[in-house]
Amino acid sequence: MSSMTDKLRFEPCALSPELAQLRAAVRAFLAEALPRVPAVTRSHSWEAWDAEFSAALGARGWLGMTLPKAYGGHGRSAFERYVVIEECLVAGAPTAFHWVADRQSGPLIVRYGNEQQKRRIIPQIVAGQACFAIGMSEPNSGSDLASLRTRAERTATGWRVNGTKIWTSNAHRAQYLIALFRTDPDPTKKHAGLSQFLIDLKEAQGITPRTIRNLAGGRNFNEVSFVDVELPPEALLGTEGQGWKQVTEELAFERSGPERYLSCFFLLTKLIDVVREHASAATLARLGSQIAWTLTLRNMSLSIAAKLQAGQDPALEASVVKDLGCQFEQALPGLAQELCELEPTLEGYGLDYQQVLGSLVQIAPSFSLRGGTPEIMRGIIAKGLGVR
Ligand SMILES: Cc1cc2nc3c(=O)[nH]c(=O)nc-3n(C[C@H](O)[C@H](O)[C@H](O)COP(=O)(O)OP(=O)(O)OC[C@H]3O[C@@H](n4cnc5c(N)ncnc54)[C@H](O)[C@@H]3O)c2cc1C
Repeated sequence: MSSMTDKLRFEPCALSPELAQLRAAVRAFLAEALPRVPAVTRSHSWEAWDAEFSAALGARGWLGMTLPKAYGGHGRSAFERYVVIEECLVAGAPTAFHWVADRQSGPLIVRYGNEQQKRRIIPQIVAGQACFAIGMSEPNSGSDLASLRTRAERTATGWRVNGTKIWTSNAHRAQYLIALFRTDPDPTKKHAGLSQFLIDLKEAQGITPRTIRNLAGGRNFNEVSFVDVELPPEALLGTEGQGWKQVTEELAFERSGPERYLSCFFLLTKLIDVVREHASAATLARLGSQIAWTLTLRNMSLSIAAKLQAGQDPALEASVVKDLGCQFEQALPGLAQELCELEPTLEGYGLDYQQVLGSLVQIAPSFSLRGGTPEIMRGIIAKGLGVR
């Protein structure tokens, strides 16, 4: 048991009081910027697309906060970034335009990009003007990502890509795609045959995104076909054959943030507003228990931010928070229905609360799939603890 707890560490971490000023500034900005955004859009939070909002956040210096100043970033701490994204998520800010770029593509490019990629793209991310998509999943390779087959072959002028990606969020409107392709077809090199590429979707020819309608009627993700797509040599991101290692690091960023338990927080706020005046003791007890869960998850999530700040790998702890956090946020629409008799709606009538609930009842089931399923998270945890 002790060797297990040695491997899985959630060190307590308190945010320093100086961050209160930053938090107050972000809160004031959101209070001004968000009333124009419909409640149902805000319920989608980090899946809600609003380029204007992202540019406004960038203009205030709140994107690319941890990226180095040498490339146009702000060189600030992981905790400062944490405060900004926490405030955005709690308020239901529409952050989808910049979310992937700020969370994972920027840090990945700083780490593995060439000088030209860093100088050209990082300032766009910092300004909230670059939207990124992630091309990992394929029609027959989701959880078993390393079995992917989209092929990038070397040519005299660079690379030629053929294949299909699926569930690629925002590929139909993003400017850039960071994708994982097979560069070595040797079947004995499953993981070692993969490489990452950085593609400008506005320039490359032969890439066709086809949007897929989700359960709630939204069109956020795509099937993306690549037919004889010619890429220049410098589209390779990092080192040929090191794609698996790079993607594992990228996934640690993808799974480590507070979005893994705050996707539905806007609903909790709305629910409290609606039941506040007439809540029974039983309702208050249930709400209190939800708040206790939130605070526990927050402490765990902050401890991951501390690991990131210290340059440590939070992959194992991030899998725990993602798994617990998804269970928490997926249960919230059901709790809301238990505690308040107002019906959910998608029809544009009723209280904001009813529309937010209607939307989240439909999209919450997907929360545990994006970024890796619970079974995969638990496999990573078991492996990390040495029990598998
Ligand atoms: C809203 C949303 C947005 C997404 N955006 C993106 C994106 O932008 N880019 C991208 O690349 N992908 C994206 N995805 C895809 C997502 O990463 C995959 O759906 C996920 O990795 C699961 O893969 P799959 O859908 O192929 O399911 P499968 O891998 O086929 O899994 C089906 C079921 O089998 C279980 N399972 C599979 N293997 C095992 C195993 N070894 N042991 C136990 N159980 C197992 C899974 O847990 C799951 O319950 C998105 C998905 C969603 C829902």
